[in-house]
Amino acid sequence: MTERKIKNMLFVLFLIGLFTFQNIQAQVLEELPLFGKIIFVDAGHGGRDPGAMYGNLMEKDLNLAMALTLQQTLLEQGAIVYMTRDEDEDLSSKWDESLKRGDLYRRIVMYRKKNADLYLSIHMNDHENETQSGAEVLYNKINPENERLGTILMNLFQKELHSKRKLKTTDLYMYRNTTVPGVLIECGFISNANDRYLLQKKSYQEKISQIITKGVITFFQHS
Ligand SMILES: [Zn+2]
Repeated sequence: MTERKIKNMLFVLFLIGLFTFQNIQAQVLEELPLFGKIIFVDAGHGGRDPGAMYGNLMEKDLNLAMALTLQQTLLEQGAIVYMTRDEDEDLSSKWDESLKRGDLYRRIVMYRKKNADLYLSIHMNDHENETQSGAEVLYNKINPENERLGTILMNLFQKELHSKRKLKTTDLYMYRNTTVPGVLIECGFISNANDRYLLQKKSYQEKISQIITKGVITFFQHS
Protein backbone atom coordinates (compact mmCIF):
# COMPACT_ATOMS: atom_id res chain seq x y z
CA MET A 1 0.00 0.00 0.00
CA THR A 2 1.37 3.39 -0.89
CA GLU A 3 1.88 6.03 1.75
CA ARG A 4 -0.86 8.07 0.15
CA LYS A 5 -3.36 5.21 0.38
CA ILE A 6 -2.51 4.69 4.06
CA LYS A 7 -3.03 8.38 4.71
CA ASN A 8 -6.39 8.30 2.93
CA MET A 9 -7.46 5.26 4.89
CA LEU A 10 -6.46 6.85 8.20
CA PHE A 11 -8.43 9.94 7.26
CA VAL A 12 -11.54 7.87 6.51
CA LEU A 13 -11.12 6.03 9.84
CA PHE A 14 -10.79 9.39 11.57
CA LEU A 15 -14.02 10.60 9.97
CA ILE A 16 -15.87 7.42 10.99
CA GLY A 17 -14.58 7.82 14.55
CA LEU A 18 -15.62 11.46 14.68
CA PHE A 19 -19.07 10.65 13.31
CA THR A 20 -19.55 7.83 15.84
CA PHE A 21 -18.42 10.08 18.70
CA GLN A 22 -20.80 12.85 17.68
CA ASN A 23 -23.60 10.32 17.33
CA ILE A 24 -23.01 8.93 20.81
CA GLN A 25 -22.80 12.46 22.20
CA ALA A 26 -26.12 13.42 20.57
CA GLN A 27 -27.75 10.23 21.85
CA VAL A 28 -26.55 10.84 25.42
CA LEU A 29 -27.85 14.42 25.36
CA GLU A 30 -31.20 13.25 24.06
CA GLU A 31 -31.61 10.78 26.89
CA LEU A 32 -29.79 12.77 29.57
CA PRO A 33 -30.16 16.45 28.61
CA LEU A 34 -28.25 17.68 31.69
CA PHE A 35 -25.34 15.26 31.15
CA GLY A 36 -22.13 16.75 32.57
CA LYS A 37 -23.74 19.93 33.93
CA ILE A 38 -22.59 20.81 37.42
CA ILE A 39 -25.55 22.12 39.39
CA PHE A 40 -25.66 23.31 42.98
CA VAL A 41 -28.91 22.93 44.87
CA ASP A 42 -28.88 25.32 47.80
CA ALA A 43 -31.36 24.61 50.58
CA GLY A 44 -31.77 27.97 52.31
CA HIS A 45 -31.11 28.48 56.05
CA GLY A 46 -30.48 25.45 58.32
CA GLY A 47 -29.23 24.66 61.81
CA ARG A 48 -29.59 27.62 64.17
CA ASP A 49 -31.26 29.62 61.35
CA PRO A 50 -34.85 28.37 60.83
CA GLY A 51 -35.80 30.99 58.22
CA ALA A 52 -39.50 31.86 58.17
CA MET A 53 -41.79 30.06 60.62
CA TYR A 54 -45.44 29.21 61.03
CA GLY A 55 -46.12 27.62 64.41
CA ASN A 56 -43.73 24.67 64.59
CA LEU A 57 -43.24 24.56 60.84
CA MET A 58 -39.84 25.89 59.82
CA GLU A 59 -38.76 27.11 56.42
CA LYS A 60 -35.35 25.39 56.74
CA ASP A 61 -37.07 21.97 56.85
CA LEU A 62 -39.32 22.65 53.87
CA ASN A 63 -36.32 23.98 51.94
CA LEU A 64 -34.33 20.82 52.63
CA ALA A 65 -37.19 18.49 51.65
CA MET A 66 -37.70 20.40 48.40
CA ALA A 67 -33.94 20.57 47.70
CA LEU A 68 -33.48 16.81 48.18
CA THR A 69 -36.37 16.13 45.79
CA LEU A 70 -34.89 18.54 43.25
CA GLN A 71 -31.52 16.80 43.60
CA GLN A 72 -33.20 13.57 42.46
CA THR A 73 -35.03 15.04 39.46
CA LEU A 74 -31.82 16.74 38.27
CA LEU A 75 -29.77 13.55 38.73
CA GLU A 76 -32.31 11.64 36.64
CA GLN A 77 -31.56 14.01 33.74
CA GLY A 78 -27.81 13.38 33.96
CA ALA A 79 -26.66 16.42 35.97
CA ILE A 80 -23.83 16.33 38.49
CA VAL A 81 -25.55 17.68 41.58
CA TYR A 82 -23.95 19.18 44.68
CA MET A 83 -25.86 20.27 47.76
CA THR A 84 -24.78 23.20 49.94
CA ARG A 85 -26.30 21.17 52.77
CA ASP A 86 -28.10 17.84 52.89
CA GLU A 87 -28.97 17.90 56.57
CA ASP A 88 -30.15 20.38 59.19
CA GLU A 89 -26.99 22.47 59.60
CA ASP A 90 -25.77 25.99 59.04
CA LEU A 91 -22.44 26.65 57.41
CA SER A 92 -21.15 29.38 59.71
CA SER A 93 -18.08 29.07 61.90
CA LYS A 94 -17.73 30.28 65.49
CA TRP A 95 -14.97 32.58 64.22
CA ASP A 96 -17.31 34.44 61.87
CA GLU A 97 -18.04 37.98 62.96
CA SER A 98 -21.55 37.61 61.51
CA LEU A 99 -22.80 34.03 61.52
CA LYS A 100 -25.36 34.67 58.77
CA ARG A 101 -22.74 36.29 56.53
CA GLY A 102 -20.31 33.41 57.24
CA ASP A 103 -22.95 30.85 56.27
CA LEU A 104 -23.74 32.61 52.98
CA TYR A 105 -20.07 33.26 52.19
CA ARG A 106 -19.29 29.53 52.40
CA ARG A 107 -22.13 28.75 49.99
CA ILE A 108 -20.63 31.19 47.44
CA VAL A 109 -17.16 29.63 47.88
CA MET A 110 -18.65 26.17 47.27
CA TYR A 111 -20.13 27.20 43.90
CA ARG A 112 -16.75 28.59 42.81
CA LYS A 113 -14.67 25.66 44.03
CA LYS A 114 -16.74 23.09 42.17
CA ASN A 115 -16.81 25.20 39.01
CA ALA A 116 -20.59 25.06 39.00
CA ASP A 117 -22.56 25.76 35.82
CA LEU A 118 -25.60 26.81 37.82
CA TYR A 119 -27.01 27.24 41.32
CA LEU A 120 -30.62 26.98 42.42
CA SER A 121 -31.34 28.51 45.80
CA ILE A 122 -34.46 27.06 47.41
CA HIS A 123 -36.53 29.13 49.86
CA MET A 124 -40.09 29.62 51.08
CA ASN A 125 -41.75 33.01 51.16
CA ASP A 126 -43.43 34.71 54.11
CA HIS A 127 -45.82 37.66 54.29
CA GLU A 128 -47.89 39.31 57.01
CA ASN A 129 -50.78 39.35 54.53
CA GLU A 130 -51.74 35.67 54.58
CA THR A 131 -53.59 35.85 51.26
CA GLN A 132 -50.28 36.28 49.40
CA SER A 133 -49.48 32.99 47.64
CA GLY A 134 -47.65 31.30 44.78
CA ALA A 135 -44.15 30.45 43.62
CA GLU A 136 -41.82 33.18 42.39
CA VAL A 137 -38.28 33.66 41.10
CA LEU A 138 -35.74 36.35 41.95
CA TYR A 139 -32.42 37.10 40.27
CA ASN A 140 -29.48 39.49 40.51
CA LYS A 141 -28.14 41.33 37.47
CA ILE A 142 -24.51 40.35 38.16
CA ASN A 143 -24.78 37.72 35.41
CA PRO A 144 -26.99 38.42 32.34
CA GLU A 145 -27.90 34.71 32.21
CA ASN A 146 -29.73 35.05 35.53
CA GLU A 147 -32.60 37.01 34.01
CA ARG A 148 -32.93 34.48 31.17
CA LEU A 149 -33.13 31.56 33.60
CA GLY A 150 -35.48 33.52 35.86
CA THR A 151 -37.82 34.29 32.96
CA ILE A 152 -37.94 30.63 31.87
CA LEU A 153 -38.76 29.44 35.40
CA MET A 154 -41.26 32.20 36.22
CA ASN A 155 -43.15 31.51 32.96
CA LEU A 156 -43.34 27.82 33.88
CA PHE A 157 -44.61 28.63 37.40
CA GLN A 158 -47.31 30.86 35.90
CA LYS A 159 -48.33 28.27 33.32
CA GLU A 160 -48.02 25.02 35.26
CA LEU A 161 -48.67 26.11 38.86
CA HIS A 162 -50.98 29.02 37.99
CA SER A 163 -48.81 31.35 40.04
CA LYS A 164 -49.90 34.97 39.75
CA ARG A 165 -46.50 36.25 40.86
CA LYS A 166 -43.88 37.93 38.68
CA LEU A 167 -40.12 37.75 38.17
CA LYS A 168 -38.28 40.06 40.56
CA THR A 169 -34.73 41.20 41.23
CA THR A 170 -32.86 40.72 44.49
CA ASP A 171 -29.84 42.51 45.89
CA LEU A 172 -29.28 40.18 48.84
CA TYR A 173 -25.64 39.48 49.75
CA MET A 174 -25.33 35.97 48.33
CA TYR A 175 -26.91 36.76 44.97
CA ARG A 176 -24.99 39.96 44.28
CA ASN A 177 -21.71 38.19 45.06
CA THR A 178 -22.26 35.05 43.00
CA THR A 179 -21.00 35.25 39.41
CA VAL A 180 -22.05 31.66 38.63
CA PRO A 181 -25.48 31.82 36.94
CA GLY A 182 -28.42 31.03 39.16
CA VAL A 183 -31.60 32.23 40.79
CA LEU A 184 -33.46 32.34 44.07
CA ILE A 185 -36.66 30.29 43.99
CA GLU A 186 -39.38 31.06 46.54
CA CYS A 187 -41.49 27.90 46.18
CA GLY A 188 -44.54 29.34 47.93
CA PHE A 189 -45.69 31.10 51.11
CA ILE A 190 -45.33 29.45 54.50
CA SER A 191 -47.78 32.15 55.69
CA ASN A 192 -50.56 31.06 53.27
CA ALA A 193 -52.76 28.11 54.30
CA ASN A 194 -53.07 26.54 50.85
CA ASP A 195 -49.38 26.92 49.96
CA ARG A 196 -48.40 25.59 53.37
CA TYR A 197 -50.54 22.49 52.88
CA LEU A 198 -49.12 21.86 49.39
CA LEU A 199 -45.47 22.57 50.23
CA GLN A 200 -45.44 19.82 52.85
CA LYS A 201 -46.75 17.23 50.39
CA LYS A 202 -44.21 14.96 48.70
CA SER A 203 -46.25 14.95 45.46
CA TYR A 204 -46.18 18.77 45.29
CA GLN A 205 -42.45 18.86 46.07
CA GLU A 206 -41.99 16.49 43.14
CA LYS A 207 -44.20 18.59 40.89
CA ILE A 208 -42.20 21.78 41.58
CA SER A 209 -38.91 19.89 41.21
CA GLN A 210 -39.99 18.52 37.81
CA ILE A 211 -40.97 22.01 36.66
CA ILE A 212 -37.64 23.51 37.80
CA THR A 213 -35.74 20.67 36.10
CA LYS A 214 -37.68 21.25 32.87
CA GLY A 215 -36.77 24.95 33.03
CA VAL A 216 -33.10 24.16 33.62
CA ILE A 217 -33.07 21.86 30.56
CA THR A 218 -34.56 24.65 28.41
CA PHE A 219 -31.99 27.09 29.84
CA PHE A 220 -29.04 24.91 28.82
CA GLN A 221 -30.50 23.97 25.45
CA HIS A 222 -30.46 27.60 24.37
CA SER A 223 -27.16 28.63 25.90
ZN1 LIG B 1 -35.57 31.94 53.20
